[in-house]
Amino acid sequence: MNLHEYQGKSILNSFGVAIQEGKVVSKVEDAVAAAKELSAETGTEWFVVKAQIHAGGRGKGTVEETGSHGVVLAKGIDKVEETVKGILGGHLETAQTNGVGKRVNQVLIAQDVYYPGDSEPSEFYMSVLLDRERGRNIIMYSTEGGMDIEAVAENTPHLIFKEEIDPRVGLQGFQARKIAFNLGLSGQAFKQMTKFVASLYAAYEGCDASMFEINPVLKTSDDKIIAVDAKVTLDGNGLFRHADYAAMRDKTEEDPTEVEADEAGLNFVKLDGNVGCMVNGAGLAMATMDIIKLSGGNPANFLDVGGTADAERVEKAFSIILKDENVKAILINIFGGIVRCDRVAQGVVDAYKNFGNFPVPLIVRLQGTNAEEAKKLIDESGLDVHSVVLLQEAADKVKEVLA
Ligand code: GDP
Ligand code: MN
Repeated sequence: MNLHEYQGKSILNSFGVAIQEGKVVSKVEDAVAAAKELSAETGTEWFVVKAQIHAGGRGKGTVEETGSHGVVLAKGIDKVEETVKGILGGHLETAQTNGVGKRVNQVLIAQDVYYPGDSEPSEFYMSVLLDRERGRNIIMYSTEGGMDIEAVAENTPHLIFKEEIDPRVGLQGFQARKIAFNLGLSGQAFKQMTKFVASLYAAYEGCDASMFEINPVLKTSDDKIIAVDAKVTLDGNGLFRHADYAAMRDKTEEDPTEVEADEAGLNFVKLDGNVGCMVNGAGLAMATMDIIKLSGGNPANFLDVGGTADAERVEKAFSIILKDENVKAILINIFGGIVRCDRVAQGVVDAYKNFGNFPVPLIVRLQGTNAEEAKKLIDESGLDVHSVVLLQEAADKVKEVLA
């Protein structure tokens, strides 16, 4: 689950990571009061207004309606309202939003942590992530922070360092010191960086994260080390342990159809093909998508209906698949192990009838317990449903109806 910058920062801060402080607002009217409050707490007189969307590259991104960037300095309390107006409620397009602007529902009004007159603030890059192949956590870091880290990886890969952490022993003191050393720090800054790294890693483990990306990590001229940005992804499977983090989920950032499927307990991922798939079991779903591809089609989605494929669930699955206008045919592929095929078939027939005017050809393959009864049930239903026995037949039928 992805979090907004302000949410990620609040988690980091609760583990002792120093952050650029800020207040989040969703209404222009609240902006000045929030900025004043922040001033009282931090002493800041300059602010930076930051769009809160689930995408990076905000600083260079553009708000469609106003032309403003997504991260803008407000040098004085009198500039705050105008700056917020340029961002809040608009649609921000960045290099990471796939060509469409994302609506900005909230902005973070943060303290400007880059001191005026600090001619060369150091911006570092630091991320923590899981290397699944090695079964280790990795801290990736670089002196070349602030800008496009992908470009650094491409052009100057030797400037990106990696430190591998064995999860059984955790981060060792010497590793934090090595990181601070490789970042070219000494004295107080060195000490602060080792503290920063230790807290960051503790946060990563403590909140069951799967990814942290802090870009930039700022070193101020008086040697503070501060997280200016925070991209935090939590492991969805760990959320049951963190009700407070689970509540941070922002569904407006997710694909609405995927949210609806999730609420119905269906495992659904939208893809960009034209053949809708309804399958039980993730492995069979993958195999079904493969065979559709091999037969020249393209899956429009991944959908695992799970163990209970009754009429209500099948109908829900139909409605979710058919929200996608690209879908030109639907293939149901169910293996009846514990779930009996005739019951699934009845579910399909009922759901099809309830739908009224079913808009695309439907191909059904049911195998396993009571498969014959199931096929009979479908064939005798009088509905325009193609029932097949073999998976290859199913794929051929899909090809035929699409032709
Ligand atoms: P991103 O563009 O989505 O990665 O958003 P960031 O939070 O990283 O902000 C973009 C850039 O704005 C950073 O790389 C900084 O250079 C700059 N920036 C962020 N906060 C401040 C600040 O407090 N003062 C100044 N002067 N610049 C800032
Ligand atoms: Mn950033």
